[in-house]
Amino acid sequence: MKSLVWLRNDLRMDDNPALKHACLNSDEVHCLYLYQPDQMKLHNVASCKIEFIIENLKDLESSLSKINVPLTVITSKCFDDCPDLIIDVINKRSIKKVYWNNQFGFDEQRRDLAVKDVLDKNNIYNESFDDQVIYPPGTIKTMEGKPYSVFTPFKRRWIEKFNMDFLDIEFKYTVKKESNIKSNLNNISFEKDHSVDMSIWPAGEETALLKLTDYLNNKVIRYAKDRNDPILEGTSRISPYLASGVISSRRCILEALKRNDFKLDSGEKGVVKWIDEIVWREFYKNIMFSFPKVSKGNPFQDYTKNINWRFNEDEFEAWKNGKTGFPIIDSAMRQLKHEGWMHNRLRMVVAMFFTKNMLHDWRLGEAFFMQNLIDGDFSSNNGGWQWSSSTGTDAAPYFRIFNPITQSKNFDSDGLFIKKHISELRDLDKKEIHDPSSKIRQYCKYPSAILDLKSSRLRAIDAFSEAKN
Ligand SMILES: Cc1cc2nc3c(=O)[nH]c(=O)nc-3n(C[C@H](O)[C@H](O)[C@H](O)COP(=O)(O)OP(=O)(O)OC[C@H]3O[C@@H](n4cnc5c(N)ncnc54)[C@H](O)[C@@H]3O)c2cc1C
Repeated sequence: MKSLVWLRNDLRMDDNPALKHACLNSDEVHCLYLYQPDQMKLHNVASCKIEFIIENLKDLESSLSKINVPLTVITSKCFDDCPDLIIDVINKRSIKKVYWNNQFGFDEQRRDLAVKDVLDKNNIYNESFDDQVIYPPGTIKTMEGKPYSVFTPFKRRWIEKFNMDFLDIEFKYTVKKESNIKSNLNNISFEKDHSVDMSIWPAGEETALLKLTDYLNNKVIRYAKDRNDPILEGTSRISPYLASGVISSRRCILEALKRNDFKLDSGEKGVVKWIDEIVWREFYKNIMFSFPKVSKGNPFQDYTKNINWRFNEDEFEAWKNGKTGFPIIDSAMRQLKHEGWMHNRLRMVVAMFFTKNMLHDWRLGEAFFMQNLIDGDFSSNNGGWQWSSSTGTDAAPYFRIFNPITQSKNFDSDGLFIKKHISELRDLDKKEIHDPSSKIRQYCKYPSAILDLKSSRLRAIDAFSEAKN
């Protein structure tokens, strides 16, 4: 009996329930990945993320070949092509069963329903699994059966329901029957449109696991203390691997618990705090699933639809190119260009600056981040932008606006992160670097500030209170 595993956001063998079930229930297994560059463009997937996905597919192909499972990549335009393409593969190869792991985005769910429908009509057995999160979105509910919209009670419930059996993920694959289908990954065409140093992000699930265990062995203990200082590299940088499914969140939690005597909410502070962040990721997946309006470009807080956002092309370009004249903002945006990644504290600072001081629509910033992040993930990115712009669930109150210079002094006190990314400022001392005087700017060839922090802050508060009233 032959089975097909339709890979999407699960580019790994470890803790891959669809692949595991296919291998358990059939003697010949094929994997399929539908490469749809136009659809990716529509979803603002970053060029560096596409390259990362391709490199991870190559790594996975090599691991799968060791158990005689071929990986076929078919290029097409968009999600609408999926039912026909899958039926075609099934017919040509006499496949009897199809397996996949669920995705929870609005378009992805619609695509999967269409595929399921055509498989059912053709009497092809199909089964899907949950691999993205510990609890499938929508299953953690309040006593009244409603979805949570505030993180702390969600997390409390998440912990109450937790059971170590969820992390029963160890599985040893056995070699399958050889197939006459050959993998075809050399045919993937990709036009590079980014300047990210990809050597920062080596592909492959073994690399991801090594990165995780190295972090948990050596750094997580200091996470609670170091996580907000961007120069310290105090966070795991596992997000690109999670976002493309090169590692699972169950694996992350299991490995973290091993470092904490299997305690979820006590023991080592750093581990507990780190697991908290994985729960944030799950929280935002729940928000996306339970409140489909956020997938359709709407704010979570309805009143914020009334905000009169500004738009100024020059300011937008300055922000995108790291030339706002605010060193902490510019260093963060330059990190994004160079690494395809930005430190979490800085994501909040630049997003708040964009939506409050610049008073630009959060959706523009959200899209720009997706177009540039190697860890672009719709729910976390949307959640982060809506938090920072005070339009979202459990968001920052609109009148509490980060001052980028204070943030810079607090979290990059010696200016080392700024110096790393803004060579023009590398000779300044720590007193000057956070807010260079106009004389220093000229001498350093560093741009003037695009706005006045005090008046732009008041302008934002006015815009929000006007929208509210
Ligand atoms: C405006 C904005 C946009 C963001 N966009 C994305 C995005 O597109 N993709 C993405 O994965 N994260 C996003 N985040 C969340 C967070 O910034 C990143 O997950 C984190 O910086 C990744 O680095 P790390 O792997 O070293 O994290 P660690 O601190 O080591 O955390 C471990 C994991 O927990 C999850 N996590 C951590 N913080 C958050 C958070 N605040 N929300 C949700 N999950 C979290 C991530 O999967 C992360 O890999 C965004 C945050 C903001 C404020």
